[in-house]
Amino acid sequence: MAIAAHPGDAIFSMGPAVAQHIYNGGSGVLVSLSLGEKGARTVTPAEYGQMQREAMNKAAKAIGAVAEFLTYPDAEIPSGDRIAYEVCDLIRKHRPRVVVTHWQGSWHKDHQNTFLVVRDAIFYGGLNAIKRDLPAHFASRLLFAENWEDPANYRPDLYLDITTVYDAWIKACEAFPMWEGGNGKFRYRDHYQSLAVMRGTLAGCKYAVTLMKDPGERGPVLRQLG
Ligand SMILES: [Zn+2]
Repeated sequence: MAIAAHPGDAIFSMGPAVAQHIYNGGSGVLVSLSLGEKGARTVTPAEYGQMQREAMNKAAKAIGAVAEFLTYPDAEIPSGDRIAYEVCDLIRKHRPRVVVTHWQGSWHKDHQNTFLVVRDAIFYGGLNAIKRDLPAHFASRLLFAENWEDPANYRPDLYLDITTVYDAWIKACEAFPMWEGGNGKFRYRDHYQSLAVMRGTLAGCKYAVTLMKDPGERGPVLRQLG
């Protein structure tokens, strides 16, 4: 399960890992906490929000994932228990083993709050003593996706070969007009395509993405050193 502040983050940054997981026989959910509706200059937020929702549904379908939306206002995604319980309910509904989200080292407040919300939602999701409509489920692994807006102290701990799903992922990204960039907008396509190539060179494959482990995650247990 990918949990993103905005639909673009869910597919551009977290999407390749989800697509690879689905390709390998798993299932995937792309959660957006807002519609990212304030990101257009020439279209009203209401219209742009609808466009973003349609693009996200199309993109999710292209990689075989399910899209879920919480429609908190773009640029005003809160932290706190109300939103954390809503995300907890989505975790209990879909029962993911792995959650991918934003790293906290972001200059974007929506991304920072998403980091905080996901941390609490995983905790609440796994607690039997917290009664919600659905039974508890603990998502046992938390990972952070590489994102141009979340660079502070990001550490590429894991390299994931995404070569087999690269074309499907690009097609999914193309559902979003903002993917192309230009006219003063960030060049998403150039950035994330180049990053996949660059990470691939380091991983020894054609295309790769990196993920950061939760700093609280314990390391592997070794039986012996050599
Ligand atoms: Zn974002």
